[in-house]
Amino acid sequence: MTGVPNRLRFLADFKKLRGRSGRGRMLVLVTLAEARHYNEILRALGHAFSEDFVRAGLMQLRSMLPGGTPVYHVSVLSFAFVIGHDMAEGVPQIAREIAQGFAGDIVVEDIPIRSKVGVGLMSLDGHAIDPAEVLRAALVAAQDSRRSDDGVAFYNNRTDAAHIRAFRILADLPAALSQPGQLALAFQPRVTLASGQCHGAEALLRWRHPELGAIAPAEFIPLAEQTALIHPLTDWVVEQALSATRAMADRGHAMTVSINASPLNLSEPGFDDKLFWACDRHGLQHSQVEIEFTEGTLAANQERATRQLERIRKAGIRIAIDDFGTGFSNLAYLRSIPADVLKIDQSFIRPLKGSDDFLVRQILSMAHGLGLEVCAEGIETPQSYALLRALGCDEGQGYHIARPMPEADLVQWLEGAYARAM
Ligand code: C2E
Ligand code: CA
Ligand code: CA
Repeated sequence: MTGVPNRLRFLADFKKLRGRSGRGRMLVLVTLAEARHYNEILRALGHAFSEDFVRAGLMQLRSMLPGGTPVYHVSVLSFAFVIGHDMAEGVPQIAREIAQGFAGDIVVEDIPIRSKVGVGLMSLDGHAIDPAEVLRAALVAAQDSRRSDDGVAFYNNRTDAAHIRAFRILADLPAALSQPGQLALAFQPRVTLASGQCHGAEALLRWRHPELGAIAPAEFIPLAEQTALIHPLTDWVVEQALSATRAMADRGHAMTVSINASPLNLSEPGFDDKLFWACDRHGLQHSQVEIEFTEGTLAANQERATRQLERIRKAGIRIAIDDFGTGFSNLAYLRSIPADVLKIDQSFIRPLKGSDDFLVRQILSMAHGLGLEVCAEGIETPQSYALLRALGCDEGQGYHIARPMPEADLVQWLEGAYARAM
């Protein structure tokens, strides 16, 4: 397309480009546009124009390089070349100049196209280097450079490792869902503060990955939420949580189970019916199930999510507002959403000492005024337990009462240790 050597030639030439030790040599990778931006150009103006865009970008790049620098066209939108530069000197001047040089438009057939160029840098010094890996690393740096001030970035091991891990987690989640033994639920008791009695538990997802070990829900759930995987994941939680609740009821412990729902669940058509069917299948009353959601949930698709919440609540399933106080909790919103319970976020409860209970008191009186029950999360000490009870908080949850635990332990806890301790 451009007449310059391609990626395969780069791989073949790599030894020569790097020199004996790679010392003082650096790979520069220039990406002309983000894939999405390029696709927009492609859709609007067609293939021939898009190729002209790439050629124009190359010409502009060449004009900024010392004559005779071998440039490689390593992927549709990326060019790579090696310069002499010592890591110790920081960002090479030429990389900065390229980023600045591309700050304006790339003009193709008199049409100015806003360029979104990334400049990635990868030192060739010292590493036992695989040329394909070097190219990948420089591409990662070029993508990262879009978030840097000067439009240039070095390859960063840490952010790259985080990306690779996130990708791995997402790729392995379907197997975790289909094979038994990786995913499990832990149940954390929720007690009525006045009596100390436990009528419910929150289902919390656990994942033991065969190679990565335990992965926290705070890590994998936000990833799943970026994909359609959150749907089967929540379905799995609903199924397991209700089946455990059924089993506990059969042993004489009638409990309400709280299930965390994601934004995408509430705007998913038919989520309400799925919940009702699941209750039927397990022979549970709707009142034995509670759905927790956070405020951010509603922001995404307010109308549809609110309507769905209304249907769920009308059918007798309880609704809890989770993590209250962490978002932009606004009062008009609080009055308009259908809910039974408000859960005060741990960040208000964990440091609670008595002198600083002002906010908690205000939240309690406001929630009670709106007819909501209040549950405090993150009760870690006997002091905060006593204080919240004295303030009239209805329910509580936290390490002081019990940690999340497997279903079998919860039954034991309900039957033994708990009765003695309270
Ligand atoms: P969350 O819904 O706010 O759940 C409470 C979290 O606080 C749990 O963390 C629980 O183990 C922890 N916790 C409970 N008591 C205490 C305490 O006294 N002190 C401290 N420091 N922590 C306490 P976990 O299990 O790691 O879950 C983290 C978050 O992941 C949850 O926050 C929830 O947002 C999400 N999550 C967990 N399971 C599910 C699920 O099945 N579906 C969805 N959508 N989200 C889930
Ligand atoms: Ca929750
Ligand atoms: Ca919470």
